Amino acid sequence: MSVDKEYNDLVDEAGEANHPDIVRCPACGFTERVSDMGGDIPELYAEGTTRLYCGSCGHEYGVSTNVSWLFTSPAKLPPAGGKENGT
Ligand SMILES: [Zn+2]
Repeated sequence: MSVDKEYNDLVDEAGEANHPDIVRCPACGFTERVSDMGGDIPELYAEGTTRLYCGSCGHEYGVSTNVSWLFTSPAKLPPAGGKENGT
C-alpha cells in the first residue's frame, strides 16, 4: 500500500526524492535499499550528507539523511493514595 506508493513516488519524481529506506541514483535511476547497505556505511544513519556510488552505473552522488527521534515514556502509574512520592 503506502510503501509501494512511496516507492513509485521515488521512481517517478524528477527532482529530489525522499524515501525512508531507498535511495535513487540521479544518473540511471537505480534504486538501493539503505537497510541492505547501512551496515557497511553507518554514516548513512547519521544526520548529514553521505557520498554513495551507484551499484549499477558507478555514478557518485550525495544522499542527505534526516534523523528524527520519537521517545516513548511508560504509562502513568496509579495514584499513590496519599503516600509520599516514591521512585
Ligand atoms: Zn546509477
